[in-house]
Amino acid sequence: MKHTQKRYWQVGLFALLLTLTACSPQKAPLQLSIDGVEIIVDREMFNMIQKEINANSDDKETQLLEYLFYWQGAHVVESITMVTEDDSATYDWQDIAEDTLWCDVSCVVIEGVEYLPERLEVTTGGFEAEMVYSITDISRITAEALGLDFLEDSRLSLPDGDFSHVAWFFLDGFGYEQFQVAKEEDLIPYLGSTGTLYPAYGIYPPRTTTSTAALLSGVDSSQNGVFRSGIRSLTIPSILDAVVDAGMQFDVVEGYSTPFNYPGAVITLSGDRDGNGATDDEVFNNAKEVIADGIHEALMVHFHGIDDVGHTYGPYSEEWYEKVAEVDTYMSELVPLLPDGTLVIIFPDHGMHPITDDVSLGNHGNLYFEDMGIYMILHTK
Ligand SMILES: [Zn+2]
Ligand SMILES: [Zn+2]
Repeated sequence: MKHTQKRYWQVGLFALLLTLTACSPQKAPLQLSIDGVEIIVDREMFNMIQKEINANSDDKETQLLEYLFYWQGAHVVESITMVTEDDSATYDWQDIAEDTLWCDVSCVVIEGVEYLPERLEVTTGGFEAEMVYSITDISRITAEALGLDFLEDSRLSLPDGDFSHVAWFFLDGFGYEQFQVAKEEDLIPYLGSTGTLYPAYGIYPPRTTTSTAALLSGVDSSQNGVFRSGIRSLTIPSILDAVVDAGMQFDVVEGYSTPFNYPGAVITLSGDRDGNGATDDEVFNNAKEVIADGIHEALMVHFHGIDDVGHTYGPYSEEWYEKVAEVDTYMSELVPLLPDGTLVIIFPDHGMHPITDDVSLGNHGNLYFEDMGIYMILHTK
């Protein structure tokens, strides 16, 4: 009898310790609703997402709640409502996104305060268009145009014609919303009237590295291993490999450095030689030279300036307007230099939203339409 009592006591202590270690009380699954579609997020799903996202991070316990929304299919979040037993609270996503963490299945931390909602209701926003494309379609349609062995075809339809070349113009940080503003302000007479524009979503998190990884691999950040900044290489095949494997060449004209590794590509860097604080003029001159030398099958020209100026002065500032107009002029001069039979694809990696900060007036990285809404312009030269 005495022996049994001791054993109960030991089991009880063990259970108590286990509960404490597992962050008491044991969390129930999270009842998530995205635009009315019910999803049960259980510990298995939490662990799976957690493991992927935090693979290279010191923080193994929490991540931005946006990861959960994105992995469940949301591209733009308007608001969330936390429903507890006798209360509910709705938040504009733009007010809390950057300070909202997800931990331990059903726990949500907003600005340092921990909540255990019974339900989490998400309202999404974004494009109203019936068909919205993705940055991952770009490498696929490129492969189609050049007859390369790559992933299955893009959802975009290839314009009529035989293509011997594909030229990408990567306009950093010049998202869909920014493009529309620029068009209304008559800043982009060339870009605003060239080719066919397809609305698209970028990749979460909407940053240069994650977007470039999706652009090159043709698959989403949840599948290509690059779901945070700081990862510079792909571990899966990319369009660059497909080009090289076919005996073709991929030329890349970059700013002063490459934001991502481009294995197999022939890279031209463009330092700020004239010291005017920007590399777009050098990128423009180098692109002109590469084209004049006789371009190879694939070309990517990466203009960084709109993003840089947007961070410093804010999107929609005077400085930003000037930079946008400058890039439009470069584009109007470069595209006519391309050989006939070139499929031209113009796109941004992500957009940008205004912020007020000591050092910066623009940023990107959230599930906001301004950050996630992008486009592809397809044009035949
Ligand atoms: Zn970028
Ligand atoms: Zn940026």
